[in-house]
Amino acid sequence: MLQGKCAIVTGSTSGIGLGIARALAGEGADLVINGFAEADAIAAIRTAIEGDFGVGCVYHGADMAKPDEVSNMVDAATRTFGKVDILVNNAGIQHTAPVEEFPPDRWDAIIAVNLSALFHGIRAVLPQMKERNWGRIINISSAHGLVASIHKVAYVAAKHGVIGMTKVVALETAETGITCNAICPGWVRTPLAEWQIEALAESKGLSFDEAAREMLAPRQPSKEFVTTEQIGKLAVFLCSDGADQITGASLPIDGGFVVH
Ligand code: NAD
Repeated sequence: MLQGKCAIVTGSTSGIGLGIARALAGEGADLVINGFAEADAIAAIRTAIEGDFGVGCVYHGADMAKPDEVSNMVDAATRTFGKVDILVNNAGIQHTAPVEEFPPDRWDAIIAVNLSALFHGIRAVLPQMKERNWGRIINISSAHGLVASIHKVAYVAAKHGVIGMTKVVALETAETGITCNAICPGWVRTPLAEWQIEALAESKGLSFDEAAREMLAPRQPSKEFVTTEQIGKLAVFLCSDGADQITGASLPIDGGFVVH
């Protein structure tokens, strides 16, 4: 379905981004992967994507906290594959602390990576998407883009901001073949969630699995983690013709998290 398309997935050396990258490659898209990891691990991810799906896959090491590096990545992708058709803004970081103890440098870093980077990437890809009158922009927000939790002031502010940005981009592209949507996952068992589970396990003297259950129980009514494969399939659907008229949406994939 996506043969001949080129997708950038930010933060795709791990977790949700890697799941989305593999799902898009599974539909034939050439991939630009991004994120932090050891060179060997990056090479293994690239080789697996190229070998498993027969697509092109290159890595770009842009730091999403740095606006120039974000636009350099879009330029490099365009040079390599001729164009960028799909931009998945996924890279994200977390820090937890009460507001009055929240370190200002963590606030700045989370706003830069989880919010501002999306603006810089979208700004860079829109002109060429408009020229071709086709594009898909998928912003990974969170259930925390729709509801709040304590101790996540920067993350919740950034993820709510992502939903606002998604709506503006959708309105400005509404009469084109470009769509812009936000995916709002509940808990997904990735490194970003695992350190929070480990912290809970340590603070309450629980095993990792007990802490994982305790973390899910009050917030995710299904009591199951969302998987990266499920999010990949949703991203693929948003890239399909069936989703031509879905734009500006914030789509929960969360086992009932936000209706609870
Ligand atoms: P993860 O920690 O497994 O992956 C994060 C990715 O972002 C990694 O590839 C990392 O290298 C990359 N990254 C971090 N900082 C970066 C930077 N400055 N520049 C470039 N890349 C950078 O986390 P994940 O759980 O897969 O999270 C992916 C996205 O999904 C994030 O935006 C996160 O907020 C969101 N999300 C996660 C959950 C969850 O439960 N895991 C729930 C809702 C939303």
